Amino acid sequence: MRYDAWFRDADTGNGRWELDEIIYRSPTGALLEVAHDMEALKHRSAAGWMKLWDSRYKRTQWPFSSGVWGKKEMVLPNIPDEDIVSLDEGGTNLFWAERFGKEIGVPELWVKQCGVSHTGSFKDLGMTVLVSQVNHIMKRKKHDIIGVACASTGDTSAALSAYCAAAGITSVVLLPRGKISPTQLIQPLANNSLTLALDTDFDGCMDLVQQLTEDKKLYLANSMNSLRVEGQKTVAIEIVQQFDWEIPDWIFIPGGNLGNVSALYKGFEEIRELGIITRIPKIVCCQAEAANPLYLAYKSGWKEFHAVLAGDTQASAIRIGNPVSRSKAIKAIMRHDGKVEQASEQELADAVARADRTGLFNCPHTGVALASLLKFIKRGEIKPNERVVVVSTAHGLKFGNIKADYHTGKIPGITPTYANPPVELAPQRQAVYDAVMRHMEKSLG
Ligand SMILES: *Cc1c(COP(=O)(O)O)cnc(C)c1O
Repeated sequence: MRYDAWFRDADTGNGRWELDEIIYRSPTGALLEVAHDMEALKHRSAAGWMKLWDSRYKRTQWPFSSGVWGKKEMVLPNIPDEDIVSLDEGGTNLFWAERFGKEIGVPELWVKQCGVSHTGSFKDLGMTVLVSQVNHIMKRKKHDIIGVACASTGDTSAALSAYCAAAGITSVVLLPRGKISPTQLIQPLANNSLTLALDTDFDGCMDLVQQLTEDKKLYLANSMNSLRVEGQKTVAIEIVQQFDWEIPDWIFIPGGNLGNVSALYKGFEEIRELGIITRIPKIVCCQAEAANPLYLAYKSGWKEFHAVLAGDTQASAIRIGNPVSRSKAIKAIMRHDGKVEQASEQELADAVARADRTGLFNCPHTGVALASLLKFIKRGEIKPNERVVVVSTAHGLKFGNIKADYHTGKIPGITPTYANPPVELAPQRQAVYDAVMRHMEKSLG
C-alpha cells in the first residue's frame, strides 16, 4: 500500500504543500498541519494496525523500535529509513502512581513519563521527526539548508541540539537569558549548538527566530513547524497501546505554546478514524497561573483570547504569554469539550513534593498538571473509578535546583508544606542515632 502525507492549512483544511517544501504557514498566515491519506491507511484494519505496532514496540528492528517510528506510516510514511535520525525516543514508562493515587482518591492514576527520554523531555518525540526531515532534505539536496534554529524555554533547544549533533547538522538556539534551568543551558552547550542567551523572554526569542528563519537556509524547529506535532501525537497512541488498547477517561497535560495538547488530540482523532478507539478521553490542559492566556480565554467562554506578559514561574518551560499553537489547540479543545485549569506557584510546588514522596520525581510542569488534577478531584469532577493519566513532560533531574530550593525553603513566597531538608549533624554515634530515632517516631506518628 502506498501511504501519503502533505502539509495543509490547519485552519481551513485546504491547500496542499509537499513535506519537502520549506514552509511553516499558509499564505493567509495560518499554521499548517500534516494531513495523511486516511483512506489508504484504512486499507489495513484496526486490528491489523494494533498487531503491527505491537510487533514493533520496543523491539530491536531499527528504526521501528522507537515509539515514534514504530508508527512510521502515520508519521512520515515516505521518508527512507536511512534518512531517519532517531535516538530511540518514546516507549516511556507509564508509571502506575498507585500510592499517590490512593492517597488522593483516584486509585487508577498513571503518569506517562515522557521525560525519561534521551534529552529528558517529550520534545524528543517531535524533534526526531523534524531533524529526520531536515536530514532528508539536505541529504537528497532538495533545498539548500545550512542549519536549524529554534527559540526555546530550555527543552526544545536541548532536543534540537542533541538530534542535530547526532546527525552532524549545525544548530542555533535562542534562549531567554537567566530563565531556564542550569541543566537545560548545559545541554545545547555540550552538544555544540550556537547558544544565544538573549535579554528577553521566550516570546521575544520566538519573534526573533521567526524573523531569522525568513531566510529559508535556516530551518525553523519550533512547534509551529507542524512536523514536530507528528512525532508528539504518537504519545496519544502509545498511552492507549500501553493500556492494551483501552482508552483512559482523563488526561492532564501541561500547556505552554500549546503544540503538545494539539498533538495529543490529533493522535486520538486519527486513531479514532482508523477504528482503533471509539471515543477520545477528556483532556485538561493545565497552565501556570503566571502564564495563563489559555485559561483566561477558557474562562471567558472562549469569547476572547489575549496574549499576556508571562510572569516568573517555577514551571519555566511553560512561561509563554503568546502561544503560537493557540488556534489549533482552542479548536481541538472546543471540538471535544476539553477543559483548561491553572495552578499557582504554591499549588504546583506542593503537588510535586507530595507526589515525589510516593516515589515519583516530577518536574514543575508535571506539578502544574498534578495540582490541576487535585482541583478536579476536590470539585468532585472525577469519579473514584475513573482512569486518569498525567502526562509528565520532563525529567525532574532537569529541575533539581528548584527541588533543592523547595526543600530548603528558598523559593520566595512559597511555604514548603512537604519540605524534607538535609539534617546537618556532627559525625558522632549518639547524635546520628538520636536523629534516626526522632525521625522514626515522627514517621510512625
Ligand atoms: C515544552 C514543554 C511544555 C509545553 O509544551 P507546549 O507544546 O509548548 O504546550 C511543557 N512541559 C515541558 C517540560 C516542556 O518542555
